[in-house]
Amino acid sequence: MIALTNVSKTVTSGSQPLTILHPLTVTIPAGTFIAVVGPSGSGKSTLLGLIAGLDAPTSGSVAIDGTDITKLDEDGLAKLRGEKIGFVFQFFHLIPSLTALENVSVPLEIAGAADATDRARGLLQEVGLTGRAHHYPSQLSGGEQQRVALARALANNPPILLADEPTGNLDSANGRHIMDLLQNIHSARRTTLALVTHDRELAALADARLVLRDGHVVEHVGVDVVASRSVAGSGGQAVAGAS
Ligand code: ADP
Ligand code: MG
Repeated sequence: MIALTNVSKTVTSGSQPLTILHPLTVTIPAGTFIAVVGPSGSGKSTLLGLIAGLDAPTSGSVAIDGTDITKLDEDGLAKLRGEKIGFVFQFFHLIPSLTALENVSVPLEIAGAADATDRARGLLQEVGLTGRAHHYPSQLSGGEQQRVALARALANNPPILLADEPTGNLDSANGRHIMDLLQNIHSARRTTLALVTHDRELAALADARLVLRDGHVVEHVGVDVVASRSVAGSGGQAVAGAS
């Protein structure tokens, strides 16, 4: 389960503080497929990065299966990420000097798997890339690179898969292929899947939906959310009993 409690993110932009994610409390039960949608700049990647522990919140806590990751040091975070979280990015982020097979082997080797290469081969087969194992990223199409990235994200069989616009840089046929794979993985492995997308059709495939705008959740379906809309000029003077 992913539990965010009063999570917010404020950065310094120029000399001004800028809140890019307003306090948000949301619980995502294990096994949920949730779509995170909203216009560019609404805070979607920020939210995913906070869940992955790639970024630290300004306030609040992020619990992954009961562990508050904001309390972990870098080593603890890296260990938890390695065990629990797979991440797929819009621009693949493969290591250019390694083959497809080697890219997928990296997280297995870090985790100390004795049979890293065999397992990486199996993962490449799962994403339909057996014939591309010894190709370098530059020798692969965008769709193939994203399938390698997906195989790598799955390497340690994480219970949580986070995908930030994974089809955003692909044509529709390759995008469709990646979405089919993500859906199959979600249903076969019961993986929690959080998918950031601009695509309303893709969002409609999910069990749950969070819609962000300017760092606020403006709509949520299928998940419990406590989101505080900051009201300009309210000065924090809550009026008892006001609705
Ligand atoms: P999305 O993924 O929805 O497009 P992001 O989460 O990437 O949005 O960013 C939300 C907003 O915060 C954007 O306006 C972005 O420019 C801004 N932002 C993100 N990170 C930083 C940062 N480190 N410093 C300043 N502004 C940032
Ligand atoms: Mg983004």
